[in-house]
Amino acid sequence: MSATTHSIHGIDILVIGAGSAGCMAAIAAARASSNNVLLVERYGFFGGTSTQMLDTFYGFFTPGETPKKIVGGLPDLVVNELDNVGEVFLRPNTYGAGTGVNYHPERLKAIWDKMLLEAGVKVLLHTALIDVNVLPDGRYECIFWNKSGFLNVIPQRVIDASGDADFCHLAGFDYEIAGQKEPAQSMTTTFRMANVELDQFEKSGGKKMLAQRMADTSLPLPRKEGSAHAMNIPKCISTVAVKVAGLNALNINELTQAEMEGRRQAFLFETFFRKEVPGYADAKVIGLSHQIGVRETRRVYGEHRLTKDECMAASIPHDSILLCGAPIEDHREGKDGASETHWEYIPQSGIYGVPYGTIVPKTSQTVWVAGRCFSATHDAHASCRSMAQTMAMGTAAGLAAVQSIRTSAAANEMEVRVLREQLHSQGSILEEPTQIARTGQSDWKLNKPYHGVH
Ligand SMILES: Cc1cc2nc3c(=O)[nH]c(=O)nc-3n(C[C@H](O)[C@H](O)[C@H](O)COP(=O)(O)OP(=O)(O)OC[C@H]3O[C@@H](n4cnc5c(N)ncnc54)[C@H](O)[C@@H]3O)c2cc1C
Repeated sequence: MSATTHSIHGIDILVIGAGSAGCMAAIAAARASSNNVLLVERYGFFGGTSTQMLDTFYGFFTPGETPKKIVGGLPDLVVNELDNVGEVFLRPNTYGAGTGVNYHPERLKAIWDKMLLEAGVKVLLHTALIDVNVLPDGRYECIFWNKSGFLNVIPQRVIDASGDADFCHLAGFDYEIAGQKEPAQSMTTTFRMANVELDQFEKSGGKKMLAQRMADTSLPLPRKEGSAHAMNIPKCISTVAVKVAGLNALNINELTQAEMEGRRQAFLFETFFRKEVPGYADAKVIGLSHQIGVRETRRVYGEHRLTKDECMAASIPHDSILLCGAPIEDHREGKDGASETHWEYIPQSGIYGVPYGTIVPKTSQTVWVAGRCFSATHDAHASCRSMAQTMAMGTAAGLAAVQSIRTSAAANEMEVRVLREQLHSQGSILEEPTQIARTGQSDWKLNKPYHGVH
């Protein structure tokens, strides 16, 4: 017996992939219109990288001593929802990317559920895009696979938020594959450890001590740096340290190898922590990331391509749809197999604007990209990939799709001024803020919609 084929008719906006970008795109589109918005995700929960492996939003604030808050609007609502259930705290500006917004990742899964339902988004989990046919009238027939069989959707507009630009690949848009020009960023299996005696760890020297133990160990750690930070679950820490370099996440044999190597490294780190780091003697790994973390794969060629020079010029073009202040954070394989992370900070104001054209695949009339597959060079992407930015991109893509349906304008010919007005009315920050952000937990009232974070 062959598989059944189902169809869903009447979809106005189809969002493929429910990471931070896709969820925001779907929520923004559904909140702003009565369009039928369908969000499709291959795994059994929403959030993508935000819930598969991480617990800290970076990119809301610029780094440094005088942080500015540069992302607002719908992404604030996610933070507010987490705050409402007591599942968020600020992580001080110790790491290069600026103050982090730390959350409980399992709770965030439930919050994405709630926000999507409240916005009226139609959702399908466990459903993977497997093919695209370009129809004679220019529309796209998207073919998915799930436990019910094949599923066909022919939407009016598409937002590719699959991280890997799967839709753009199948629909014939141009893209660069990470590793083609510069070495691709490495992959990381994140892991969480429970039963860590944090007092003992701090009394023994804390992070400085950890760095020294990493430098001195005779264990063959793949990376002698990274982030091991407290979660909002007592005695638990979350670790971003594994480094799997030189493998292509779009090649299934290499991705398989990367998953297994990531797990091997995670348990090597566990041995190191238990044997050599005070406070960890009785700690154990309680969870590995749902899949290995992939920083970059396909980056679509858009109507505009964000470059390192543009980031470093620290200017905000008139067609910007979001701001970014994160440094270039490029995780690479160093010389002789050694690992290294390359940091480069945005000079002057420390803020640049990201033009609308970076979310529009070249010549596209009805398609947008949002999130880590947007149009940028390797090093610009290494700056503009934190989740505050991917959420802001999703918001812009969702509102752009709505505007395009309302005005019958092609994606690559839309009036960006109108989109910016829409974004602004939603609370998005599009100009350099004059205020220094208050990043102390006690004076940061998160639970005011849109303006909770200054
Ligand atoms: C190891 C690692 C550590 C990082 N650390 C941080 C950090 O601490 N803070 C921070 O702000 N940023 C961090 N980043 C960057 C940031 O997390 C990502 O750039 C961002 O989450 C990407 O969001 P996205 O929505 O574009 O993609 P993703 O989160 O990758 O979402 C894409 C979604 O699409 C789905 N999908 C893919 N293909 C298909 C298909 N064919 N059909 C259906 N669904 C599909 C996926 O399952 C996924 O849910 C890190 C990234 C990595 C990899």
